[in-house]
Amino acid sequence: MTAAGPLTGRAALITGASQGLGRAIAAAYLRAGASLAICARDRAALEQATVELAELATGEQQIVALACDVARPDDVARVVDAATAALPQLDILVNNAGIAINGLIMRFTDDQWAKTLQVNLTGAFYAIRAASTLLLKAKESGRIVNISSVVGQMGNGGQAAYAASKAGLIGLTMTTARELAPRGVTCNAVAPGYIETDMTAQHLPEAARAKLMEQIPLARIGQADDVANAVAFLAGPEAGYITGQVLRVNGGMLM
Ligand code: NAD
Repeated sequence: MTAAGPLTGRAALITGASQGLGRAIAAAYLRAGASLAICARDRAALEQATVELAELATGEQQIVALACDVARPDDVARVVDAATAALPQLDILVNNAGIAINGLIMRFTDDQWAKTLQVNLTGAFYAIRAASTLLLKAKESGRIVNISSVVGQMGNGGQAAYAASKAGLIGLTMTTARELAPRGVTCNAVAPGYIETDMTAQHLPEAARAKLMEQIPLARIGQADDVANAVAFLAGPEAGYITGQVLRVNGGMLM
């Protein structure tokens, strides 16, 4: 049976899709009818995710799994080439891969700073550079969605590099939006608040959870699908006149 959704006939490359938000975004895109190329660092985790995601796909939807380190420009270029060789075209790029290394500035090392920026910000730049020509060919169905963070808009003690990388991603988003707009390609950022995933679960003791809840008007921690639904909307035909924007998915934590 053919999937009839807003992304039917479109193909997306999603980075960091073996778990957490990337995996939820992959599932939302499959439900919307897209074919996928998914990448992550850990090959075994990626293969496991691919098997599970395949249950959501119809016979006409493809899922291509490509292990990749977005911090390496050669790796990113290889993945974009492999994705376009396997899929009929590339319409959508989601830069989701990210890491959080936490620590106060006075004790933060050069390596921790460089690694965070390299994965979270430079990795997205590598992917946009490698995929731009293909996305321009997709014209009005061309979409880029970058996963930023509420922390990139309001800061957070102990997360200087993470906040800088996520704020930088917003500048990259607006510039990419301007450069690709003449061909109808859009580029937006989604800035999640506090979302329950492996990245966050390990850092949150019960007392901190209660304190966090006081800052969230909707009084709940976000779920991966809250973000995935927003990322799917921005990739679809109904979002064609939205570009260079930051969509906050944070329960009202920052307005
Ligand atoms: P996660 O740690 O659960 O998953 C991260 C994914 O990125 C994994 O698939 C991992 O393999 C991949 N990845 C990490 N480094 C990579 C690299 N160098 N190359 C390729 N893949 C790599 O994290 P998550 O919570 O799902 O977060 C996903 C994105 O959302 C990140 O960019 C994160 O900063 C952002 N974000 C998360 C939250 C949250 O509350 N969870 C809030 C705001 C923003």
